Amino acid sequence: MLIYGEWVPAAAGRSISVYNPATGEAVDEVPAASAEDVATAIGAAHSAFPAWAHTPAVKRAELLDRSRGLLLSRREEIARSITEECGKPLRQSRSEINVAADFIRWYAEEGRRSYGEWIPDPLPDRRLLTIRQPIGVAAIITPWNFPAYMVARTATAALAAGCTVVIKPARQTPLTAFALARAFNDGGIPPGVVNVVTGDASVIGQAFLEDQRVRKISFAGSPDVGKLLMRGAANHVKRVSLELGGHAAFIIMSDAALDRAIDGLMSAKFQNAGQTCIAPNHVYVHSSLLETFLKLLCSRVERLKVGNGLDPETDVGPLINRDALEKVSSHVNDAIDHGARLLTGGHQLTADAQAEGNFYAPTILADVAPPMRITCEETFGPVIAVTAFESDDEAIDRANSTQYGLAAYIYTRDLSKAIRIAERLDVGMVGVNDTRIAAVEAPFGGVKLSGIGREGGREGLAAFMETKQLALRIGPA
Ligand code: NAP
Repeated sequence: MLIYGEWVPAAAGRSISVYNPATGEAVDEVPAASAEDVATAIGAAHSAFPAWAHTPAVKRAELLDRSRGLLLSRREEIARSITEECGKPLRQSRSEINVAADFIRWYAEEGRRSYGEWIPDPLPDRRLLTIRQPIGVAAIITPWNFPAYMVARTATAALAAGCTVVIKPARQTPLTAFALARAFNDGGIPPGVVNVVTGDASVIGQAFLEDQRVRKISFAGSPDVGKLLMRGAANHVKRVSLELGGHAAFIIMSDAALDRAIDGLMSAKFQNAGQTCIAPNHVYVHSSLLETFLKLLCSRVERLKVGNGLDPETDVGPLINRDALEKVSSHVNDAIDHGARLLTGGHQLTADAQAEGNFYAPTILADVAPPMRITCEETFGPVIAVTAFESDDEAIDRANSTQYGLAAYIYTRDLSKAIRIAERLDVGMVGVNDTRIAAVEAPFGGVKLSGIGREGGREGLAAFMETKQLALRIGPA
């Protein structure tokens, strides 16, 4: 683990293994922190905070940019490590490093623009102004599906704001978090500003919640853990940002360019084997297009090559673990039991080299309807659920019927219709004729069960800052 600039084992010497989801083999071992180890890391971040908070933003930017250069110079090695611990195809791992580097650059620059305000004052002998200051020590808990991207998106915003951080990566993907932390460390970011702890999530999470020196919890992961952290944060009224799951609707109107819609769906759905929070979970297609759409989609899905992410031919890698495989499989079986039509896939892949991995065939289900679990639960796998609709209102009502509210997509040639529908969807992000909705410059986040707060863009920096008001008595003129 990285604590106060030193790479250290757990004090009690315990460790946990990291497994390759494509082969089931152990890739490495990482320390399993005790509550005392976590307290040491928090102490390091706390002691480094005053100096880092007062470091000029331009200097922080310089150190972040140097770290970015190191990250990019190590891209091949880190990309391979991402694929080995998380399973995604190597080209997706490379592009994840590029986006992580983009986040570092964006926040390095944006940290220099954390302006305050001069407020028009009703009193003639006083002046009101605000300054923005870093919150303090931020605990950052990240998921495994984008192990570099998620650490970069949150930790870099915190660092640019002047916060110090203790990062707890997912059990499945600690090696990528270590690689990012190594780049920050080697890039000259002072000891204690970036710390990484690994091990049992409940031990680490509880230590973050109980320690008053931690002023902010930034979490991306499942709604259940998000709620638990939100409840725990209430004790010391810590700030929380929660980026939770999604159940994105993908709406194809009768006038949509079908080829473009299918291109968008294929890339958004099968990236990372469907294990992305903004992956379309339910496709609503106008009934007039249904059969043509299903035929075209089937021919595309059946051409996907599933395999080990290190094979350059692979389009779709394994699921992260056996639990994920069981969840995907149970969603598909439940839908079939309730009358869905299985058009392709629908089973685990176990032949030859795939025998020890967590591979699931890309799947299409048609005629999907409540009470199938897939209509309301996040599947997080390579499964496309399709339902026909007749009217715009019906599509919108169905899209809004889940507890989630992260992302949605609309395909239509009618821009005014797209705008009106986008305004009525209960989500944080809408893609219109496009599924590339994540950008370093833009706020990312959801409503309802999908979370609280925004990461990325200006909002991402603000999430790690407090606004302080100064009232200055200046006396008579
Ligand atoms: P998860 O189980 O909630 O895990 C996420 C992180 O929380 C991991 O680091 C995990 O550690 C940690 N954690 C688990 N229990 C904890 C506890 N009691 N206290 C503190 N931390 C705890 O989520 P997941 O299933 O791995 O990730 C997939 C979910 O994340 C999906 O729902 C997906 O949609 C969501 N997600 C959302 C976004 C977004 O930006 N909205 C982005 C990516 C993923 P361990 O790994 O050690 O258990």
